[in-house]
Amino acid sequence: MSALVVAEHVHSQVRDVTYELISAGRQLGGPVAVAAIGRDPSSFDLQRAGVDEIIQVEVDSAEFESDVYQQVLEKLIADRSPDVVLVGFTVSSIGYAPAVAAKLDLGFASDVFSVKRDGESIVATRAFYGSKVHAELEFPGKLPVVLMLRPTTWPVAEPGGSPKVTEAQVAITGSRSRHKDFTEQPKGDVDISTADFLLSIGRGVGEKENIGTFERLAEKMGATLAVSRPLVDAGWMPSSRQVGQSGKTVKPKVYLAMGISGAVQHLAGMKASGTIIAINKDPEAAMFNTAHYGAVADLFEVARELEKLY
Ligand SMILES: Cc1cc2nc3c(=O)[nH]c(=O)nc-3n(C[C@H](O)[C@H](O)[C@H](O)COP(=O)(O)OP(=O)(O)OC[C@H]3O[C@@H](n4cnc5c(N)ncnc54)[C@H](O)[C@@H]3O)c2cc1C
Repeated sequence: MSALVVAEHVHSQVRDVTYELISAGRQLGGPVAVAAIGRDPSSFDLQRAGVDEIIQVEVDSAEFESDVYQQVLEKLIADRSPDVVLVGFTVSSIGYAPAVAAKLDLGFASDVFSVKRDGESIVATRAFYGSKVHAELEFPGKLPVVLMLRPTTWPVAEPGGSPKVTEAQVAITGSRSRHKDFTEQPKGDVDISTADFLLSIGRGVGEKENIGTFERLAEKMGATLAVSRPLVDAGWMPSSRQVGQSGKTVKPKVYLAMGISGAVQHLAGMKASGTIIAINKDPEAAMFNTAHYGAVADLFEVARELEKLY
């Protein structure tokens, strides 16, 4: 089953998710082609085991632009008829992959964490309802399908191989946005990715005024405070403290998660932690599936009890 992978890159550095997509494509057993889209696509490191072809598409934008990727992908699908198109379930791909599938009337699934071949069709597995339910999706009579694969699920394809390199010309007929520049994040006050003990809080803390309680608790316990994304989105905490797919990847010895549901995007950043302890008032919270220890409890009560111990 032939797979077309779309490479992701920033500053001409190929992102790991690309190498994971290659592993997923390879697993389907057919040839794997990787589309390198950029101003200098020949500079991308795509010599990886399992890649049969690198398709270099030179465009007038060094960095990711949604409309450009959409137009290139539409043309490559039309010209090459891959059976499956693999892109990362990432902020960039969300901007164009669903649009391509809708426009070309292709099968589509996002946040896919397992994919297999079933005869001449594809079966993709994804989560629903905050990972409480997994569902298998099939696309009868529908190939190609566009699948957005969850990062950090497949292994990174090793360097090696000797893929054929080809070039494809795509006439871009305008882009509604232009990438102007990157803005460096202000240096964070701490580096959560090197901490041994993280006390991580989520939306369960309720309101901004409650964060002080956990800042004090973290200090008393010798932990570093980290947060889930909603607390950053709300402007309550700086992004330097965010754990997850669009935040930091952490691997402390102890990860104490309080009031965090355990969404896949959060788990992607902390599931490799040594010992994971979850406190949540919902016994069905997905975080309990990943945690080594857990307590179904009110996080404020637990915080009060912990305060007494330190
Ligand atoms: C492309 C993309 C990237 C993303 N990147 C990230 C990322 O990097 N990091 C990240 O965290 N999220 C990320 N998200 C968001 C993610 O999908 C979830 O929405 C988010 O992780 C939820 O945060 P939460 O668990 O704090 O909040 P919720 O899901 O709202 O969970 C709050 C939890 O608190 C519990 N709770 C409430 N009150 C109490 C109490 N008194 N005592 C105990 N428990 C209580 C509830 O039972 C619930 O389980 C991303 C989403 C997308 C689409």
